Amino acid sequence: MISEQTRKRLKNQSDILRTIRRKGATSRSFISKSCGIRKASVTNICRDLVDRGSLNEKTPGFYRSEIELSSEYWRSLSIYINSEKIVATIVDHNGKDYEEWTQKIGNRKTPEKIVSSIVSLIKKVLESEKKFIGIGISVPGIVNAEKGICLSAVNLGRWHNFPLVEEIVTRLPAHCPNIVIENDANAGLMGNHWFGGFGEKLENSLYISLGEGIGCAQLMDGNIIRGCRFSAGEIGCLPSGNEKRPCSCGKMDCLQTYCGELGIIQSVNRISKTPTSYSISELCKLAKDNPKIRQSLDLSYQPLVQQICTMVALTDPAQIVVGCPDPNMDSIIPEILSAGLKKQLGWTDNEYIPVLAGLHPIKSGILGAAVSVFKKAFQDEPPLQYS
Ligand SMILES: [Zn+2]
Repeated sequence: MISEQTRKRLKNQSDILRTIRRKGATSRSFISKSCGIRKASVTNICRDLVDRGSLNEKTPGFYRSEIELSSEYWRSLSIYINSEKIVATIVDHNGKDYEEWTQKIGNRKTPEKIVSSIVSLIKKVLESEKKFIGIGISVPGIVNAEKGICLSAVNLGRWHNFPLVEEIVTRLPAHCPNIVIENDANAGLMGNHWFGGFGEKLENSLYISLGEGIGCAQLMDGNIIRGCRFSAGEIGCLPSGNEKRPCSCGKMDCLQTYCGELGIIQSVNRISKTPTSYSISELCKLAKDNPKIRQSLDLSYQPLVQQICTMVALTDPAQIVVGCPDPNMDSIIPEILSAGLKKQLGWTDNEYIPVLAGLHPIKSGILGAAVSVFKKAFQDEPPLQYS
């Protein structure tokens, strides 16, 4: 059991690390003021962290030197899983990524196959002797992040209460750093929150990611909303139409069968009555100068607009961030959703909520997996022995 003194020091240490993360290079007196921690304690804790290599002094050995997080130390191995591939990348606390390793996932998806792919990727990275403090995994499913369990992942085969972290850890060498898992939409939101340049407003925001499926996550006062069963934001399988479109979850007419990538093409075909050979990216590019295509995209995204309306009414976010897998989508989908919401909700200029293009979902998922690692490490970073 840790003493009250150690517990307090741990909390101070975590506050100091968080402050330096947000502020960048800064002085000990700024930290002392903004965290409300005595200068002597800040000095003491920072000295430990500098000795450990976790913090750098900009002018080494000079007391008044600004200090910053070390980008050599604060590195995560981020793993991103979607239905096609698994990507592993080293990411530092500035969101800079280094070497990347990728493994394709075949058509037969099972938890065991995914686990063995993840394990072989991690082993490859360990063999390369790259340094990282933890492993973050972005999972396209409902996860209990605290227990490391994947409850379900409809686009990834049959998963049911699968102890993902445990299954991976037992196949790795004992010295391997800790693993944290996060739902992919939550990871995407956190990647945008820390590295997307959206500023403080993102503390209260709604995030929608578009791809084969539809992800959604929400941040309230800086905290991710997870829900009692960890399925907050699972809007992809909400009932949304009556055309009997089959969904990978086994049900019919889920939102993702209308507003996922294939669903949109299907809807555009139905509206224009002539099958299009265009991809969603090409349709978005053409829609800028072609009012007919624009109109059919407007109509096709209506089921998603409807669901976002309800969420906006429930939580009143400061902004809505949309992660699109293609730059052509970035330049028009936020506009389509914004126009749809304005019409549905009858927004006046005062009520208007900005809808903005976020980072590419793979990029933000990778960055967000790193955020989970750093956030946990800020809490868990053990204090060195001190007198
Ligand atoms: Zn479904």
